[in-house]
Amino acid sequence: GMVSNWTTIPPPLFKKVVIVLIDALRDDFVFGSKGKQFMPYTTQVVEKGTSYSFIAEAKPPTVTMPRIKALMTGSIPGFIDVVVNLNSPALLDDNLIWQAKTAGKRIIFYGDDTWVKLFPKHFVEYDGTTSFFVSDFTEVDDNVTRHLDRVLKREDWDLLILHYLGLDHIGHVTGPNSPLVGPKLREMDNILKKIHISLLSKVEEASLPNLLVVCGDHGMSETGSHGGSSEGEVHTPLLFISSAFEKRSAPLTQPEHVQQTDLASTLAIGLGLPISRNSVGNLILPVVGGKTMREQLRFVHLNGFQLSRLLQENTPAYEKDPGYEHFKIAEKSHGNWIKLYLEGNNSEILLNLGKKVLKQYLEALKTLSSSLSRQVAQYDMYSMVVGTVIIMEVLLLLLLSVPKALSKRAEFEVPLSPPLFSLLFYLMCLMLCAVHVIVCTSAGSLCYFCSMSWLTAVGVMMLISALMCGILSAIAKIFENSRLPAKNPVVSSSSSSWSEIDVLILAGTIGHVLSLGASSFIEEEHQTWYFLINTLCLVLCQELCRNNFLLKECDLQHSTNVKQNFDSIGETSECKNIDIPAASNSKLGKATSSSEFIKGSDKWISLATPWIILICCRLLRSLNQTGVQWAHRPDFGHWLTSSEHKSELSFLAAVSLLMIFFLVQRRCSLVSKIAMALGLLGVYSYRAAIGNVVFPWQHGGKDISK
Ligand SMILES: [Zn+2]
Ligand SMILES: [Zn+2]
Repeated sequence: GMVSNWTTIPPPLFKKVVIVLIDALRDDFVFGSKGKQFMPYTTQVVEKGTSYSFIAEAKPPTVTMPRIKALMTGSIPGFIDVVVNLNSPALLDDNLIWQAKTAGKRIIFYGDDTWVKLFPKHFVEYDGTTSFFVSDFTEVDDNVTRHLDRVLKREDWDLLILHYLGLDHIGHVTGPNSPLVGPKLREMDNILKKIHISLLSKVEEASLPNLLVVCGDHGMSETGSHGGSSEGEVHTPLLFISSAFEKRSAPLTQPEHVQQTDLASTLAIGLGLPISRNSVGNLILPVVGGKTMREQLRFVHLNGFQLSRLLQENTPAYEKDPGYEHFKIAEKSHGNWIKLYLEGNNSEILLNLGKKVLKQYLEALKTLSSSLSRQVAQYDMYSMVVGTVIIMEVLLLLLLSVPKALSKRAEFEVPLSPPLFSLLFYLMCLMLCAVHVIVCTSAGSLCYFCSMSWLTAVGVMMLISALMCGILSAIAKIFENSRLPAKNPVVSSSSSSWSEIDVLILAGTIGHVLSLGASSFIEEEHQTWYFLINTLCLVLCQELCRNNFLLKECDLQHSTNVKQNFDSIGETSECKNIDIPAASNSKLGKATSSSEFIKGSDKWISLATPWIILICCRLLRSLNQTGVQWAHRPDFGHWLTSSEHKSELSFLAAVSLLMIFFLVQRRCSLVSKIAMALGLLGVYSYRAAIGNVVFPWQHGGKDISK
């Protein structure tokens, strides 16, 4: 009937479309002071040219591959995509690139090879660059730009996609405020200018106008990283530049916010393609604003039809959804409007009525999108359960072995061989395989674990069963030992005589691991570590006091015990604060040597060490007390890394490296001394080469960019 006739695809609005994706392009790099300073051409086009600019909000995880998927499918992937970010398989979901290829559009791609992996057979021509070498700032982008002059002269393409990685790499290595960002933005500005002028020169011959889209996949945080949900990471600019648009009359105020997923539906309409099946995006109306009211209404209806169909597929009670209800009302008024239009009524009233219908549609689209965003996130529960079971089994096995590993014999034995042949193992394997068959035949193709080969699946089942049997036999062994203490005194004594420190280290480790799993705590995990290290120091102090004042005798066993504890602190503090281990290392070194013979003045030194460590921890903490979420606030670390205090930082780095050398070299042979000296010199030289610290013979550090 009428509805199905409406859903035929209207003709394209643009002839050629160029998408320039600049990795980690944050909104203020274009709209802020940096944009005005380093991107003059783009700023001029944004403020006075024929363009529409928006701030596109990216959904976390703000990592490249999920963002490309969101831009091209319009759907919202789950957090699970982070895991496969480095070996992305081909994108099977309905997407813009596939639709364009099916419609016979010729697509050319240059840039990040993630695209080539996602769309392996879709481009008529491509050149992928790897994003693996993060310290490469120029080559990655030159590899894209070198094709530009040639391809812009040619006429044999419809869609050109460029993905520039250099800015992201600069962000990762030197941060968003580094002096390298400006020149990179200027380079991007010149590229945009070249493309824009070339597209403008082509427009006279063509019947349809061309479109240039500039966007970022995600932004970057104040530390230059991305992945989380801070404002800098999720806000990216989105520019539509075309001679089809009207010249901007009023100066640009703050750009409007849209969703990153809106690009897919907008480009689908612009290219005359069906909107991707799973897209939750809304058409960005200004892009089609130059068309007649009848066409605009048709476009928003197409978008609403696609969204309501997606809702029907995902929700049983879709008819009660407010978005669906709004859409049906808008569709009805649209029908009335068409009737008036066909009667030849062409007055002001018709236009105003049309505007009202348009508003109804936009309202419906927004509501549909938000209820879909709640629905679409699907999780592969079965694969997640299998993975969780394996991890928990390994963890349990490790925990069961901790008493043995911490005992004086420090052994780690996994009892695997006997249970492999036990009846229990075979029974479990059979049962798990049966469960696997049942789950996979009912779940369909959605499950990742089911899509693996049968041999691999059986292997995983055997692993789960073997681990389970290992755990059971380990538990059985512990019970056996506790029942017969005379037979095996070592194990029973070590498992029963855990000191407070052993308990604290174990509980603290488990607690810290658990806190890493909390999503509400993301990027502030170091707070737990601060708390735990302080507690550990206090417990250590208490134990030292007790040993020194209450127990007069100090035998060898005790001193080795204390030594072990200090070693473990040394390891944890080194892991967390790799940058300045020397300060705490010196104290730990003293503590270790002094605790070997606790008597006389050494006794007082050993008593003082926990407090010295506490003071060092406090100093460490003040280096970065704002964490990641509040990283833009001033901090002692910022003071040190700012360019005015480069000499102070250089001095601190040099002293720390020298202290590492002098503390460690005592126990080294000549060869390893030389190797260590060269290694430490290399660390300093690297920092000097990337501009963090100065060479002694270099003044002011003016040659950073070189
Ligand atoms: Zn990226
Ligand atoms: Zn990155």
